[in-house]
Amino acid sequence: MVERPLWVRSPARMRARVRQWRARGQRVGFVPTMGYLHAGHLALLLRARKDAPRVVASVFVNPLQFGPGEDFATYPRDRARDRRLLGEAGVDLVFAPEARHFLPEDQAARVSVPELDGILEGRARPGHFTGVATIVTKLLHAVEPDVLWLGQKDAQQVAVLRRMIEDLGFPVEVRVGPTVRDPDGLALSSRNARLSPAERAQARLLHLALRAGRARLRAGAPGPASVERAMQRVLAEATLGRVDYARLVDARTFDTPRRLEGPLVLAVAVRFPS
Ligand code: AMP
Repeated sequence: MVERPLWVRSPARMRARVRQWRARGQRVGFVPTMGYLHAGHLALLLRARKDAPRVVASVFVNPLQFGPGEDFATYPRDRARDRRLLGEAGVDLVFAPEARHFLPEDQAARVSVPELDGILEGRARPGHFTGVATIVTKLLHAVEPDVLWLGQKDAQQVAVLRRMIEDLGFPVEVRVGPTVRDPDGLALSSRNARLSPAERAQARLLHLALRAGRARLRAGAPGPASVERAMQRVLAEATLGRVDYARLVDARTFDTPRRLEGPLVLAVAVRFPS
């Protein structure tokens, strides 16, 4: 019996399968992940399934997007559970390339969007978005989907990949799914599993800060600074962590908006030691 979904390691096999579907006129949605799946990933997969008859997910912990002191080695992994959840989610194919083949040590080429690289998450994690853009380029070449599904939780990643796709003319449409949260408001994330109970309790302040910022904005804030101060006041209570940033930015450029209109993003990050 063939196990569903089928896990494919080779980009060539992946492309061949997807091309068969497309030759039959079936649209293909693609959800890239780093595995250790949670309800946020599953919600994206569900959206992808409703949107197109074929869905491909990828599971690849991308070494390029981790900095030297970051948690690549300890990033949570559970292949058996991912396998089960992807089966239940009705995914057609899973692309799970092997790092040593997909990303040979001598790979010199990189893809980057420098304009978005030096701010917020890019500044806090140098090289992170170049690592993301490079690997998503390779994934898109292997899968050749019609639609790329991304989560709003990683809003700057969405901005980087949209610009990459727009500026370099990738023939793929980007769709964004809303953030799925725990009941207390913390966005689901594979890394949440590593927070200590005390850190997890404080992590709910991130959502409270976003709400405070949104309330300030809706109440007619005079400028970004007053919105940012409202968020910082809440985050000051996260005594176990270090605030990386609490900003109000333009959704496309991630710059400070000149006027408080158009698509805006409230972005907060707190680094906990665990
Ligand atoms: P990751 O495995 O963390 O790289 O995430 C894979 C995709 O799932 C990315 O597009 C994320 O933005 C998205 N994602 C992660 N967490 C959530 C969440 N809580 N809600 C919605 N999408 C999410």
